[in-house]
Amino acid sequence: MSRAWLIGAGPGDVELLTLKAARTLALADVVLVDDLVNPEVLQFARGDAQIVHVGKRGGQASTPQPDIVAMMLEHLRAGRSVARLKGGDPFVFGRGGEEQQALQEAGIHVEIISGITAGIAAPAAVGIPVTHRDHAQGVVFVTGHGAGEHEADWRALAATRMTLVIYMGMRRLSDIVDALLRAGMSADTPCAAIQSATRPEQRHVLAGLQDLARSVADAGLGSPSIVVIGGVASLAAPVDTMLDQPAP
Ligand code: SAH
Repeated sequence: MSRAWLIGAGPGDVELLTLKAARTLALADVVLVDDLVNPEVLQFARGDAQIVHVGKRGGQASTPQPDIVAMMLEHLRAGRSVARLKGGDPFVFGRGGEEQQALQEAGIHVEIISGITAGIAAPAAVGIPVTHRDHAQGVVFVTGHGAGEHEADWRALAATRMTLVIYMGMRRLSDIVDALLRAGMSADTPCAAIQSATRPEQRHVLAGLQDLARSVADAGLGSPSIVVIGGVASLAAPVDTMLDQPAP
C-alpha cells in the first residue's frame, strides 16, 4: 500500500535531519522537494526514486499549491509512496497543514515527520537561545510576510515582551521595525538577523532595533533569514569568536 509523508528536512546542515526522516526517505518512490531543502538530503532517497523539485528555482515560479497536491494524489493513487520534503519543520510556515488537509479530504492519511525549524536553529547557530530565564519567558514565531489584513499585530506582540522570531521578514524589515518602535519597543532592543543558517554560507548581523534595517542592508543580507528581536539576542557569540571554528 502506498504511504504519504510530510518530512521536515531541517534548517540546512544535512546532519540536522532526523534519523526518522532519513529512514523514511529511503522508502519513498517519489520525493517532492521544496527549494529551501539542502539537496544533500536527497542522498537518503533511493537511487531509483523519482525526485521532483517544486520550489522556486532559477527564477522560475514555484509549482502552485493545488498542483503539488494533485501530483501527490496522482502518485499515491497509482500505488507509489510519496515523501514531501520541506525545509525546517513541515508544520511551521511550510503549508504542511494545508497539504495535510487536502490529503485528508481525499481520504489519505499522511504521516508527519517533524524537523528542526529555522526559528530555533538559526538563532542557536549564532549562540542565541530563544528563551532564557533572565530575558524572555517565551518566544513568538511570526511571519513578516503578511501585509494589510494579514499583518501581524506588532503592537500586541511587543507587549508580550517575549522573543520575536520572524520568518520571511527581510523584504518588509523596515516596516516591521517601525511598527515595533511605534509600539514603544526600546530603540536599543538587541536584534539579530541570520542568513542561510547552518549552511557553509551562513552570515549574520547584530544590531539594536533602531539600526537593524540599515545594518542588514549594509551587510547585504537577504533571504532566507531569520530575524530575532529581544534581550536574548544580546547573548549571541561575538562575531570574532566564531571565525575559523571547526565544524562540530
Ligand atoms: N518550514 C520552515 C520555514 C519555511 S518559511 C522551517 O520550519 O524552518 C521560509 C522562511 O524560513 C525563510 O524566509 C526564512 O525566514 C526561514 N529559513 C528557512 N531556512 C533558513 C535558514 N537556513 N536560515 C535562515 N532562515 C531560514
